[in-house]
Amino acid sequence: MSIKRDCPQCGRPMLDGAIFCLDCGSRVLADSPRDSGDRVSAGDISAHSSDAELAGLPDGAYLFVIEGLDRGRRYDLDGATALTLGRKESDISLTDPFVSRRHAEIELKEGAYVVIDQNSANCTLVNSRPVGRHTLEDGDLIEVGFSTILFRQK
Ligand SMILES: [Zn+2]
Repeated sequence: MSIKRDCPQCGRPMLDGAIFCLDCGSRVLADSPRDSGDRVSAGDISAHSSDAELAGLPDGAYLFVIEGLDRGRRYDLDGATALTLGRKESDISLTDPFVSRRHAEIELKEGAYVVIDQNSANCTLVNSRPVGRHTLEDGDLIEVGFSTILFRQK
C-alpha cells in the first residue's frame, strides 16, 4: 500500500506510509484502518507507536516532537551521551510552559538511551505511565507537560 498524500495540517507532501508528518509532526491517520488488534482513534496518542506509524520515518536515533508547541522539531541523538530535556537552556529545549526548566535527562548507557526524570513538577511519562527512569525503545512516546515526543532508534 502506498498512497501519496499531503499533510492535512501543513499541506506538504508526506512520505509513503508515514503517519507522522515530518514537517509539522502532526499525526495523520491511515486512510484505511488496519483490522489488526490495535485500534487507533483520532487524536489518541496514548500508547507505544505501532509499526505502521513508524513506517516512513527516517532511521536514526532522534526525538521527534509530535504534539505540543514545538511540534515538528527533531533532535538527533546520534553521538550524544547525555542531554538535558527541559525549558530554555536545555539541550532539548521546549517552549511548553508545563515543562520544567530541567525536566528530564536522556543518557546513553551501553547502547541504550535512558530517560531519567529530574523530579519535574509534572512528571515524565513514557507510553502514558509515569517513570523515574526508563530505558527507551524505538517507538516510545515520551510525554512532558503538554508535549509528546516520539523516540526513534533504528
Ligand atoms: Zn505537516
